[in-house]
Amino acid sequence: MHQARFVRWSPLVLAAACSVACLSGCSSVADAPDAQADKDAEGESLQGTLRRVVISDPERGSSRFDYFLELEGGRWLQLALPAQPNFEPNSRVIVRGEQSEGAFDAASMELAGPAAEEGVGTQQAPLLAPSPKRVAVVLFNFANDTTQPIDAARAKELVFTGASSSNAYYKEVSYGVRSLVGAADAAGDVFGWYTIDASSGADCAYSDWGTAARAKAQAAGVNFGNYDYVVHYFPKTSSCQFSGVGQLPGKYNWINASGSQTIAHELGHNFGVHHASSYRCIEGGAAVPLGGTCTANEYGDPFDVMGSGYRHLSGYHKEKLGFLEAANVQTVSAAGNFELAPLEQKAAGVQVLRFPIAGTSDVYYVEYRQPFGFDSFRATDPVVSGVLIRRITVPARGVLQTKLIDNAPTSTSFTDAALAVGKTFTDAAAKVSFTLTARTATSAAVQVSFDGPPPPPPSACAAGESELNGHCYFLTTTAQSFTAAKAACVARGSGWSVASVESAAENGFLSSITGTTEYWLGGTDSAVEGTFVWPSGAAFWSGGLSGSAPAGAYASWVSGEPNNTGDCMRITAGGPWRDASCTSSYRAVCEK
Ligand SMILES: [Zn+2]
Repeated sequence: MHQARFVRWSPLVLAAACSVACLSGCSSVADAPDAQADKDAEGESLQGTLRRVVISDPERGSSRFDYFLELEGGRWLQLALPAQPNFEPNSRVIVRGEQSEGAFDAASMELAGPAAEEGVGTQQAPLLAPSPKRVAVVLFNFANDTTQPIDAARAKELVFTGASSSNAYYKEVSYGVRSLVGAADAAGDVFGWYTIDASSGADCAYSDWGTAARAKAQAAGVNFGNYDYVVHYFPKTSSCQFSGVGQLPGKYNWINASGSQTIAHELGHNFGVHHASSYRCIEGGAAVPLGGTCTANEYGDPFDVMGSGYRHLSGYHKEKLGFLEAANVQTVSAAGNFELAPLEQKAAGVQVLRFPIAGTSDVYYVEYRQPFGFDSFRATDPVVSGVLIRRITVPARGVLQTKLIDNAPTSTSFTDAALAVGKTFTDAAAKVSFTLTARTATSAAVQVSFDGPPPPPPSACAAGESELNGHCYFLTTTAQSFTAAKAACVARGSGWSVASVESAAENGFLSSITGTTEYWLGGTDSAVEGTFVWPSGAAFWSGGLSGSAPAGAYASWVSGEPNNTGDCMRITAGGPWRDASCTSSYRAVCEK
């Protein structure tokens, strides 16, 4: 069946999984069955929405993911998986496996539909207008522990109204575009306390507890459809080894009687960012900024709420969440001198230098911090007299931790990690150096130099994709219906769909990569018979068989086409197009 959309627990997937999320050691997965074996032992099949929660555990310095299947009716079923699925969280999936104690033992997973875009997830485009998010806080306790460590007024203060509330935090770090509001009361909605019919005893069943608490709230008239995010808050419970956990990305987080900083951290996950780590490198027995053997400390970055400090988000995280405008982020592709404005306040100029390392998916981000608001640094703190450098691996899909470089490596602390005036950070392999040449309270001067020729402009396309004129193309390997093919393309991530063809040059390029095999293109005339439109909605043909391309549009039908064989279309050997029934099976050209 749909083999390309089928998660086989292949060595590749397992390798990727082990860096972040071995649930219970990776040894057992070495014996994972291949796809054939999966199909032979399918067992029970369940369809639902894939949910992912990142378990935040700063004290242990590590993190992992819990996966759930949200079933019809809203119940979350925990999944026992031999590896991380390679689908976006919040996608519709079909899992096959067996029910076991408290979890579903999944042997395979298949994509049934793309990730929902119901106001959750990463937001790359700059937010140019205020983007308040409606947040419900649900207070609940347990049959065996009915304590109420805070009252509703205090909860409102922690999340919405206090000077150091999560809301005050996001308003400041987003320059006013992101705020947290209520649906009933603009100053914030808090519901409960509710006592759920469960014990906080041995198991930290946070998702089940949340479901039970929401059911109580719903019975009392709360409509969670009115909210973008839900904060579940419960009394300090020792069976949960975390201060908080949150979906990455998604609607829910769960707070183990912790405060505004933890709630801001979990909402950061809900919005779509991962942890802010520190990066420590040892070469020849000595600590160095880069080189030798490097290890990341999951929450080691003291200058980001996604690390260990109630400080501004890093420039990378602000960009990822849409808090910076295009003019604030300078991509460096040639040597030069650059002026950085401090990151804390809205600026017209550059606040972040972004340097993609050629031939890798790694990027350096350089930023400048000064005392302001949540960045309540003292004038003597090293961070305010230098620039921070982070290295980030940007995966084709999903999100990874940022890594703070230690430019004062002789101390083990990262509070002095900034690059001071007159100092240079060099990455010999990437042939790039950053030097802080001067700074004032309002700007930092960073010189970027290359040891050797400047790297070529970075490709926006991931491994396995082809690039033409800034667009990325990917060929699926399974023949399937147009609907299924489109879902596979869309599931690649933001901006992906089945390909549109806007020029003879593009069609020639597609013909060169598709060869003699026929592939779906994105055009359909399902809305108006004879009028074909691309996924963007742009019409490129009207009038059916005797029709024509509108002015400026490109079309390349085989003579005698489109002859209403169906509402979809494919590219054929050599480049010309034929229409086709949408239920036929072809591979697809995906494009972003
Ligand atoms: Zn976390």
